[in-house]
Amino acid sequence: MAEAVVDLDAIAGNTRLLAATAGPAGMMAVVKADGFGHGAERVAHTALRHGATWLGVASVAEALALRARGLTAPMLLWLYSPAETFEEVLAAGIDVSVGAVEALEALAGAAERTGRVANVHLKLDTGMSRGGAPVEEWAQLFAWARKFSHAGLLHVRGLWSHLANAEDADAPGLRAQLREFELGRETAAAAGLAPPIVHLANSAAALQLPQARYDLLRAGIALYGIEPVPGRNFGLRPAMTVRAPILLTKRVAPGTGVSYGPDFVTERETTLALVPLGFADGVPRQAAGRASLSVRGVRCPIAGRVSMDQIVLDVGDLPVNAGEYAVMFGTGEHGEPTVAEWAGWAGTNPHEILTGIGARVTRRYEH
Ligand SMILES: *Cc1c(COP(=O)(O)O)cnc(C)c1O
Repeated sequence: MAEAVVDLDAIAGNTRLLAATAGPAGMMAVVKADGFGHGAERVAHTALRHGATWLGVASVAEALALRARGLTAPMLLWLYSPAETFEEVLAAGIDVSVGAVEALEALAGAAERTGRVANVHLKLDTGMSRGGAPVEEWAQLFAWARKFSHAGLLHVRGLWSHLANAEDADAPGLRAQLREFELGRETAAAAGLAPPIVHLANSAAALQLPQARYDLLRAGIALYGIEPVPGRNFGLRPAMTVRAPILLTKRVAPGTGVSYGPDFVTERETTLALVPLGFADGVPRQAAGRASLSVRGVRCPIAGRVSMDQIVLDVGDLPVNAGEYAVMFGTGEHGEPTVAEWAGWAGTNPHEILTGIGARVTRRYEH
C-alpha cells in the first residue's frame, strides 16, 4: 500500500552535478544503509553510469551484498568487528578503512592466507573523535603500514578523514580539521607513504569547500537530492517520494477525539482520512502536532498521535475520496512536504528521515 517511489533520473542528475563539482577528483557514491533507504543496488548502478567512480558502504555485509549483486566498482568499507578476518573482503576486492594497528595486522594476516594484497585507506581522526587514529597514533600506524606494504601484503591506497561540521563553512572546528588533515598528509609523506587517493569531503564539503575535495568526494545525502548546506541551493533534486492511499474517510462532529489518548480533539466539523503509514514505516512520532501530508497538493495535518501502522489526517472540507494518495514527502514541487521539513518537524536530520522509511514501504523505481 505505502510506497517509496525512487526517481532514478534524479539520482543520475545529482551524480552528474556532484561529479562535475569534483572536477578531476573522483566521486564515491555512499550507498550505506541500503542507499539511505533508496535501495543500494539500484542507486549504485545508476550513480556508476553517471559519473561516480567509487562505492562507499559502512559494513562488511553491505559491501559483500553489493559484490554478490555484480557491482564490481572500487568499493570502500569503514566499519567492522575486531574479530573480522577480512578473507571474504579481500577475495571480493573491497578496500578497507584502517585507523588502528590491530586492523592492519589482521589485514596483513588475511593477505598472507589468501595471497591477495589488501588495499587500505588509513583513517585519521582530525577532530571528530569518532573513527580513525588519533594524532598520537599516526606515527605508529604509518610505520606499520609501511612495513606491511614493503612486505607486499598491503597497498596504502588512501588517506582520509571525516568532517564534523562541513555545513558551516565558517565554523572554527572545521578550519582546525582542515589544518589537522594537512598535517596528517605531511606526516604520512614524511613516513614514506604516498597514498594516491586522499579524501575528506562529504556532501556539504564537496559542494562548498573546494579545498576539501582532494582526489575523491564521498557523497551521501546530496546524491539523494537533499541540499546539505542550510540556506543554500545547489540544484539537487530529491529522489524519493513516499506516499500511501487513503483507506477511509469519515465526517466527524466537533469534539471528536482522534487516535490514542486522545491528544487531539476536533474543534469543528471536519473530515478525517486514514493513511497506512505509521512509525514502523518511518513517520516520526515526535512530529505529530507539527507535521502534515499533502492530499491534492493541500497540506493536511496529522490529527493526534502517530500509531505504529497508521495515521489520521484532518483534511477539513477537502472532498477527498478513499484511494486518493496522501504524500508524506517528495520534491516539494506539488505542494508536498520535503524531507528537510520532516527533519525540522521531528527535530532530526534528513538522513534519519530517509533511512527511517521502513522495509514495509514498497520501493518502486521510475526513470
Ligand atoms: C555517511 C558518510 C558519508 C556521506 O555523508 P553525507 O553528509 O551524507 O554526504 C561520507 N563519508 C562517511 C565516512 C560517511 O560515513
